[in-house]
Amino acid sequence: MSDKPTSSMKRRLSGVVYAILLVVVVYLLYTMIRLSIIDASKWQELASSQQLKSTTITASRGTIYDSNMQILAQSATVYTIAVDPVLLTRNLNEEECELELSDVVSTLADTLEMDAGEIEGKCLKDNRYQELKKNVEKAKADVIREYARENKLSALIATESSKRFYPENSLAASVIGHLHYDGYGIYGLEAYYDDYLSGTDGKTLIATDNKGNEIPYDYKQYYEAQPGDSLVLNLDITIQSALENALLDCVEKHAPLCRATGIVMNPNTGAVYAMASTYGYDLNNPAEITNPITATQINAMPDGDEKTQAKSKAWATQWKNKAISEIYFPGSVFKVITASSALEEQTITASQHFGCGIEYRVADTPFHCWSTYDHGAQTLYDAMMNSCNPAFIRIGETLQPALFCKYYSAYGFTEATGIDLPSEVSSLYVSENRMGPVELASSSFGQTNKVTAIEMITAYSAVVNGGYLVTPQIVDKIIDSNGNVVKDIEPVIKRQVISEDTSAQMREILEYVVENAKGGNAYISGYRIGGKSGTSQKIDEDPSGHTYVGSYCAFAPANDPQVILLIAVDDPQNGQFYGSQVAAPYATEVLEAILPYLGIYPEYTAEQLEEIAVNIKNTEFADVDDAKATLEALGLKVTVIGDGDSVVAQVPSSGQTKRGSTVILYTENNAVQETTSVPSIAGLTLEQAQTKLEEAGLNLLPSGSAAYTKGALAGYDQSVAAGTVVLKGTVVSVTFYPSSVSSQ
Ligand SMILES: [Zn+2]
Repeated sequence: MSDKPTSSMKRRLSGVVYAILLVVVVYLLYTMIRLSIIDASKWQELASSQQLKSTTITASRGTIYDSNMQILAQSATVYTIAVDPVLLTRNLNEEECELELSDVVSTLADTLEMDAGEIEGKCLKDNRYQELKKNVEKAKADVIREYARENKLSALIATESSKRFYPENSLAASVIGHLHYDGYGIYGLEAYYDDYLSGTDGKTLIATDNKGNEIPYDYKQYYEAQPGDSLVLNLDITIQSALENALLDCVEKHAPLCRATGIVMNPNTGAVYAMASTYGYDLNNPAEITNPITATQINAMPDGDEKTQAKSKAWATQWKNKAISEIYFPGSVFKVITASSALEEQTITASQHFGCGIEYRVADTPFHCWSTYDHGAQTLYDAMMNSCNPAFIRIGETLQPALFCKYYSAYGFTEATGIDLPSEVSSLYVSENRMGPVELASSSFGQTNKVTAIEMITAYSAVVNGGYLVTPQIVDKIIDSNGNVVKDIEPVIKRQVISEDTSAQMREILEYVVENAKGGNAYISGYRIGGKSGTSQKIDEDPSGHTYVGSYCAFAPANDPQVILLIAVDDPQNGQFYGSQVAAPYATEVLEAILPYLGIYPEYTAEQLEEIAVNIKNTEFADVDDAKATLEALGLKVTVIGDGDSVVAQVPSSGQTKRGSTVILYTENNAVQETTSVPSIAGLTLEQAQTKLEEAGLNLLPSGSAAYTKGALAGYDQSVAAGTVVLKGTVVSVTFYPSSVSSQ
């Protein structure tokens, strides 16, 4: 007999297999139906009783500090208060709850300082979430949380979040930038360093029952938020304020249609001490339009698309950092680049003479000097001081397009500077292969290539710092929430463009400009300053040539530059437009304010000191008119008391006093000399001290190296003690100290 299955056996076996399969299928089908239909409500309840509620904990955003750890931007924890109206109804209907809706509404309205009707309306909505108020400070949120806990009102929700505060309001606005409504940076440092500043959000996972109530002692997980890192800037509030104050003075007087901008930096390291665009804006309220003219125009417009567009345009302008995001013709400030390139290549020497001729023709195109009289043949020193265009066209010709473009590129004008801010643009320039003699001529005096202010000051820094092109940097270091340094940002030197010798020669030339031209430059008695003004025509926008950018770039001390600043005024109105008129005075204002602060004090020559103080001549017994003439010739004012013909007594009669002091001449024998009580002038500025003494009929003689420095304060060493009764006209001398020293 064979062991092979017969066909009948095969049929029986398959019948059994089918039967088993059928049972399994039927069972599975039944289970599915039971789960999904028959027991649905039971399973749903089970699931919902173990729901997890996830709450995001916003990471605290890092702080932005100035170079002295003064806070420029800081985040504070605030709360959003909300209500779950459905749950609130349930809470109030609980047996043990003794509250009415009106009690809850009035508590919320009182604490949040809101309209009770508005809150009630939200509490009566038929949904699960109604926001009541954002940015509620912790103390108020605590009151509401305590009230909710005491009364078992799980429907009241306080969610923690973070709010950005800018304690200095508009200071350095275009540098710091502001946040998007959703909390990330969209402008300035807030955007550029967003990854560092923002940190990592955390969350809590809380098990809740099917009514949304937390299950105590049950499943709860907490993922801590990692706070953001903080920035410590090179930017200094004191220097920034000095720059912004000067720019405001400038804007008030010259009303530029396209704003003014300024940068102050360390030419050796690229550390940016200050950067501003006027008008700035309030970082705590970026939507407020700060240009008063624009604001008035927009307010007068009827609501509609046109008004919305005008607003958007105004915002885009005021939020834009002019120093790095707009390009302009640098004009004659650029002559420092042309001159240093030619000196470095030895295509010229500084003592060589360059002609003016008022007009100079290049390939049949006439170029004019700004001056209407011929500057004649000038050395490089005088050509720079005269800012003579034909002279610089001639210097440019010695370079030819190849070398001109080589240095244009080496000085960093064909690339962005790489400053640590967003939205930096680069220059618009004629490349070597498109540069004919006419383009070379106009490029040589800064009227063809358009650059940013940050490119210009960075290249100028290289001209005077020994030849090194540095990267400008706003941030000095990044620290974590415990103060540990995460990243120390070292100065970056990209390359050496010109030699130390050429650079030293350029410093000398630029100091010569300020020393010899004085007016229209950043000349400050007692200081060694180098500088150059520029006035360009915005010929691409206004071919008539009557729209200008006036600028000035200065550095100090001229022999060892520690600080450099550039101010550019775009389309000034009110008649003046030369850089020497609209920018230089404000560059001077900034330097006067910041040099002593930076520890750079004036050193007066004997000649300069003589300008300030005068030796009083005794004119007693002289004819009154002669005495008057003698004293007035010394720069003194004279008060004559009495009707006599000759001087009987003079106060003060000897010693030194400040030029401009008042000398009293008594002309009658028995005249009673007037007396006065000496006030205290300690701690006053020069102007305040002078006013106070003048009011008492006295004269001031300030001393000390800071005597004529803006912001310097009088010490306690006044030569006549306060309260002493002296003759009117007496000179009170006192030493002045830089305000930064006396305040320390
Ligand atoms: Zn000239």
